[in-house]
Amino acid sequence: MTTATSPRPRTAGTHPASPYQSYVYAYPHKTAYRRLPERPLLRDLWAGEPKDALSLYLHIPFCEVRCGFCNLFTRIGAPDGLTGAYLDALDRQADAVREALGEQDGPRFATAAFGGGTPTFLTAAELERLCDIAEHRMGADLRAVPLSVEASPATATTDRLEVLAARGTTRLSLGVQSFDDTEARAAVRPQRRADVEAALGRVREARIPVLNIDLIYGIDGQTERTWLRSLDAALAWHPEELYLYPLYIRPLTGLGRRAPDTDPAWDEQRLRLYRLGRDHLLARGYTQRSMRMFRRADAPPQGADDYACQTDGMIGLGCGARSYTAGLHYSFDYAVGMHEIRGIIDDYVSRPAADFARAEYGRTVDTDEARRRHLIQSLLQADGFDTADYRTRFGSTPQDDFGTELSRFAERGWLADGGTRAPRLRLTPEGLAHSDAIGPELFSPAVRAAMAAYERK
Ligand code: SF4
Repeated sequence: MTTATSPRPRTAGTHPASPYQSYVYAYPHKTAYRRLPERPLLRDLWAGEPKDALSLYLHIPFCEVRCGFCNLFTRIGAPDGLTGAYLDALDRQADAVREALGEQDGPRFATAAFGGGTPTFLTAAELERLCDIAEHRMGADLRAVPLSVEASPATATTDRLEVLAARGTTRLSLGVQSFDDTEARAAVRPQRRADVEAALGRVREARIPVLNIDLIYGIDGQTERTWLRSLDAALAWHPEELYLYPLYIRPLTGLGRRAPDTDPAWDEQRLRLYRLGRDHLLARGYTQRSMRMFRRADAPPQGADDYACQTDGMIGLGCGARSYTAGLHYSFDYAVGMHEIRGIIDDYVSRPAADFARAEYGRTVDTDEARRRHLIQSLLQADGFDTADYRTRFGSTPQDDFGTELSRFAERGWLADGGTRAPRLRLTPEGLAHSDAIGPELFSPAVRAAMAAYERK
């Protein structure tokens, strides 16, 4: 349910124009992927890869409504039979991918996630089937590994939650965005607070160990008072995790049709609400894990933060999912516009199994890109990272490879502990607040150019 956007061009000078360039939840971004003319066989791509601690991600590209801020790959108004046909295709894809991964040293999964879209758009019976695909087709032991599932308030029904809890879900992430009905409408996510509260009650009754609540700040009409009210409404449920997202207005989305996304006053509002929210949570027993993520200090551990984008080895199933080997990130075609998304889903459900044995769209991740990816993912965590680990992996130091960028961040007061030469590179609180400017500054020129050349559809 999280969203991303392509970055705007970097501006000259020492400070970027806005702290809100883009949310870098995966690098390289999908808009830098291109059709792979040779359509490499998955069997060859995965032949030399470690397969003993992979992540499994299953993507369900359906939602009841299209939120105004969302540019994820998802469709609304799925006709009867489409979700069943989608699961049939997922089954065929899982078979083909499992075969490509090899039978003898079969894969072992260390984490699993169902994302979207809204996985709970599926019925309870369909969710059983989704779990069967993960377990019986892919060999993931869902009761033994962290399993994270995204849900919306309206679809977090008791029967679905019972299935998810029984099948081993350890984390349920509920996209609430705001507890204020007027703000929810302004974000084009119409819902009533009473329905959200009822959904939260059902989630707690299901006894899934970790509840995450997503909230958004920067909504039209939102004030410090209403933001604190939403935060307190969320805190009343003692969620183990909270994600606080700045609102972005993106091309081809509901809000993107109405308003431009450049406004210094809006940047100010978002920064102010961010700091307010951060301090509110820190004062109430939460620790900050990244700009967006806060975890209750006594919450059970859940594996790596931002699980879906941290690991090198990831198997994504479904037509919007990415897969990662060490040298190639790949997926299917990508779109934001509803008409295009429908076409891609229809194409996916009509494919025979043999079609899933090859990669189609993707981007090579060479050593330079792997270093950038590592730096982006590690530096944007609140704990930062040990430069000795970087040296062990790459044979050089972050200063050798990114001295210019790191010095610039240090000049802006964004690097803690004495700056670029500290044994542990870590952002200051202001650096964390500017994570969405720091990430895009670390993109390679080639990725930047590919993203700029991407034709939105
Ligand atoms: S529920 Fe809203 S934010 Fe989540 S994927 Fe669907 S449209 Fe996007």
